[in-house]
Amino acid sequence: MKRLPLWLKKTQGPMSRIHHLKTILRRRNLHTVCESARCPNIGECFSKPTATFMILGDLCARRCGFCNIEGGNFPSGVDTGEPGNIAITVKEMGLSHVVITSVTRDDLVDGGAAQFALTIQAIRGTIPSIFIEVLTPDFRGDRGALGTVLNAGPDIFNHNVETVPALYPIVRPQANYERSLGLLETAKKWGVTVKSGIMLGLGERREEVAGVMEDLISIGCDALTIGQYLQPNRRCLEVKEYVEPERFKEYDELGRSMGFKYVFSGPFVRSSYNAEFQLSARK
Ligand code: SF4
Repeated sequence: MKRLPLWLKKTQGPMSRIHHLKTILRRRNLHTVCESARCPNIGECFSKPTATFMILGDLCARRCGFCNIEGGNFPSGVDTGEPGNIAITVKEMGLSHVVITSVTRDDLVDGGAAQFALTIQAIRGTIPSIFIEVLTPDFRGDRGALGTVLNAGPDIFNHNVETVPALYPIVRPQANYERSLGLLETAKKWGVTVKSGIMLGLGERREEVAGVMEDLISIGCDALTIGQYLQPNRRCLEVKEYVEPERFKEYDELGRSMGFKYVFSGPFVRSSYNAEFQLSARK
């Protein structure tokens, strides 16, 4: 693995608070993408505390080149207690903004859409004023599944295109760039705030990044996150480049000039990083 540059070194938050949250999660059989994806922000986020809940288990039906989650498996079943357990935990954590994501469940007829809807309803039923953001898989482009999620009333619909289309064969081999754009476009027409994100450092060129931004603007995407890809384990794709902070600023300015209502661009940015401060996307 490439040596980390200075700007990518990060200190962890207080261990006691991190352990406290981990203990609650284990007790309720809950997963977070923070742990499963080995997110570099976990110390900071867990000690606040905040987290991104990952529903539908911790095994993924797909095998993306960038992801630390165990992939290529077809997990079975759905934990019916999960929506309620997440709602209780969100309340205990005192969150005013929660992000719900999932592994990809191509083995389920609806791709897990009903579990998203039940989780949104359980959280809303427990904390009516909460702001709910969903970060979903592509549901294989199934508009019925998308409708199930959107009918449950999330405040933000987020689906990451992850990288430039030319890199899809190695980064997201079982996904399709146009299909992801189409999903976002349909969500936008539905009337919800739409958000997407990409990682840098996988070998993409600047003009390709600008091209993705243009595509997202053309389908009405409101908010964009751009962060540095970090190789989570040796099986995952190697980092091709540690993009300098200055370039993240350039993309930030470019995105704003293109018309995104909100751009969050920086080496440690993840689609759920400081999500509660991305509320300006609603305006
Ligand atoms: S940035 Fe998102 S995924 Fe990473 S630790 Fe924070 S909440 Fe979790």
